[in-house]
Amino acid sequence: MAIYNSGNRPSDGYDTHTHLNDDTFWHDVPAYEARAREFRIVEMNIVGYDAESNERAIQLAREFQDMHAIIGWQPEDISEINDARLAVYRQQLQDDNVIGVGETGLDYYWDDNPSAANQKQAFRQQLALAHEFKLPVTVHTRSAMNDTYDLLKEAHVEEFGGVMHSFTGTPAEAKQFLDLGMYISFSGIATFKNAKDVQETVKSIPLDRLLVETDAPYLAPTPMRGKPNEPMYVHYIIAHIAELLGKTYNEIAEITTENARRLWHLDQQINED
Ligand SMILES: [Zn+2]
Repeated sequence: MAIYNSGNRPSDGYDTHTHLNDDTFWHDVPAYEARAREFRIVEMNIVGYDAESNERAIQLAREFQDMHAIIGWQPEDISEINDARLAVYRQQLQDDNVIGVGETGLDYYWDDNPSAANQKQAFRQQLALAHEFKLPVTVHTRSAMNDTYDLLKEAHVEEFGGVMHSFTGTPAEAKQFLDLGMYISFSGIATFKNAKDVQETVKSIPLDRLLVETDAPYLAPTPMRGKPNEPMYVHYIIAHIAELLGKTYNEIAEITTENARRLWHLDQQINED
């Protein structure tokens, strides 16, 4: 299957959520970056989820011009947050290579996750910092849609922006977050045969709020489902969404890249070097 119109050079794509800071990739980052570039995936957000992965995200963003760091604590790792780590975090948020807060949010799916009360506290804390430093927030939500919405609304996310990452909610749920000014990002789940409901949601998103991501090493898209995921595979997601929406690969690559650059305020830096 052609991934883009034959004869056309693929337009630049942007993987807005990937974990090259994860052990899976850590010792081979240049190779994964080069593979992504072969498919014109020329920009990516390296997303942290705990203190070590945050540090690594910043390190990669310093080293690679096409990588940006988003740092925070995912729900399952919030128990490591303490005053000393928060002090470091505040410093890190002021680093030019850091473009956003996350991934943070609420996950009530796993029984052994921290309590809902503790998760909400950590989410509120990170939202407050996102607000303070005017950094868009990358939000993870699982089995916690209503609480996630309530906290984002309470934090006035419309004043600093954000994205619902790897979104799997209904069109009505998506609309709630869109109404808060947020963007909606789709991962490989949107390419799965049995994810018709997510595909309906994709179709409901205004084009200027749509983002794509791999969430690598998790959630490899069709036809790589079940295999290790990596940033270059975002091209499968772009192609699939293009088909769903009756657009070309390049149209979806261009609009999602433009949306990402707008959300994370990267437009000013486009021709810096
Ligand atoms: Zn993630």
